[in-house]
Amino acid sequence: MKIHFLGAADGVTGSRHLVTSGGARVLLDCGLFQGWKLHRARNWAEPGPLREAEAVVLSHAHLDHSGWLPALVKHGWRGPVYASPGTCELLKVLLLDSAHLQEEDARRANRHGFSRHEKALPLYTRADALRALALLVPVPTGRAFRPDGALARHALTLTPVGHLLGACAVTLQEPGRAGRRLVFSGDLGREHDLLMPPPQAVPAADVLLVESTYGNRDHADEDAEARLEDIVNRTVHGGGSVLLPTFAVGRAQALLLLLQRLKRAGRIPARLPIVLDSPMAQQATELYRHHAAELRIPKRETLALADGVRIITTGAQSQRLAAQRVPMVLLSASGMATGGRVLHHLKAMLPDPRHHVVFAGFQVGGSRGARLVGGEREVKIHGEMVPVRAAVSQLQGLSGHADQRELLAWLGRFRQPPAQTFVVHGEPTAADTLRGEIQNRLGWRVRVPQHGEEVEA
Ligand SMILES: [Zn+2]
Repeated sequence: MKIHFLGAADGVTGSRHLVTSGGARVLLDCGLFQGWKLHRARNWAEPGPLREAEAVVLSHAHLDHSGWLPALVKHGWRGPVYASPGTCELLKVLLLDSAHLQEEDARRANRHGFSRHEKALPLYTRADALRALALLVPVPTGRAFRPDGALARHALTLTPVGHLLGACAVTLQEPGRAGRRLVFSGDLGREHDLLMPPPQAVPAADVLLVESTYGNRDHADEDAEARLEDIVNRTVHGGGSVLLPTFAVGRAQALLLLLQRLKRAGRIPARLPIVLDSPMAQQATELYRHHAAELRIPKRETLALADGVRIITTGAQSQRLAAQRVPMVLLSASGMATGGRVLHHLKAMLPDPRHHVVFAGFQVGGSRGARLVGGEREVKIHGEMVPVRAAVSQLQGLSGHADQRELLAWLGRFRQPPAQTFVVHGEPTAADTLRGEIQNRLGWRVRVPQHGEEVEA
C-alpha cells in the first residue's frame, strides 16, 4: 500500500490523500485549501497525481475535505465519488455555494482590476459543481460496501464520527487474506456535541490516518447555554439586539437549538424575535430535519428547530432588517464575518453600544471575526472604517472537533495498535504534540508526514 500526502499534511485544509492499494488508486478527500495565501495558491495548481485516482471517497462535506472536487472535475476527471447519504445531501448545498463564491470573487477582481491576468477566472463554476455532484454515489453507513469498477475487490466501510451531519471515518479493506486495512479518521467529533452523537469506534487498522486539529489542547469547559442566556437577557433589557455571526451548516442549527431550549424553559423572553438571515443556513436546517434520526437529540426537537423563527430570504428583506430597531436575536452567515449578509448587520450594529455581537467558535487568524474578538476598536467593512462600540464576545464550547483528550480516547478504542499511524490535518504544533502523546501514552509507531511525501505503508 502506498500513500501520497497531497494536502492537510502541514495544515488543517486541503485534505487529500492518494492511496494505491490492491491494484487500485483511490483519493481520500478532495479538499480546498483555505486560510494562508501560500496554501490557497495550491488550489490553482494542476491536479498532477490526483488525476490518476480511479475513485474518490469523501469523509464529510466541509469544503476543506470536499471543495476541490469541482476543480478536479473541471480538469476533466470523471469517476465515482463515494460518500455517506448525509454528506451527499450537504454537498448539494455546500459545493453550489462554493462555486457561487468563486464566481463572485472572479467578478469582483475583474470589476476592481485586482487580477494581474487579463481576466480573472473563477476556480470553478456552478456548472463544474453540478458535474461533480452527478458523480456522487451514496454509501450506507455502518457496514461493508462493495463498490463497482476499480474498487470492485475492496470493501469500503463508513463509520459515523459525529462532527457534522454525514461525517464518517473511512475504512478501506484490501482484497485477499493478506489484504491490509486502511482507516482514515476524517474529522472526529466531540463526546458531548449538542447535535451529533459521539464518534463511533473503529475496531482495527493496519494503517491509520488520524486528524489532529486540536491535537495540542483540550476545550475549555463552558456552559454555552447559560452564557447565551445571560448575554441575551442583559442585551435585550438594555434595548439592544444580539447578533450571532454563524457558519450556516452545523453551528447555526446548534445555536437555534440553544435558543429554542432557552425560550421553552422561560429563561429568555418567549416573545423575543429570533431571526435567521442566511438562505444557506435555512437549507441546511431543512436537511438536518430530514436526517433527524442521525442526530442525538429527540426528533421533535430537530423538527422544531425553526419554530417561530423569522426566516429572511431576499437581500432586500435583509437590508431592511439592518435598519430595524426592535430587540431581537439575529443569526447570519458567515461565521468569521469574512463575507455574506452578516457584514451589513455588523456595519449597522457595531457603532451602537446597546448591541452585542457573539461569535460562536474558532476564529481563524487574520479574519474580521478574530480582530473583533481580539478587541479592535475599528474594523473595515466594504471599504469603510466602522467604530466598534457594541459588546463583542466569543462562545466556547460549541466546537465540532474532538480535543486532545477525546482524540486519544477514540484511538484507545482500537483493539490492537495499527502497524503504522500517520498524524494529519493539524497545524505543525498540534500534529507534533499529538504524535508525541500517541507515542508515549499508547506506544504506537507514529509519524507526521510532510506535504507531498509518498510513503510505503
Ligand atoms: Zn470538518
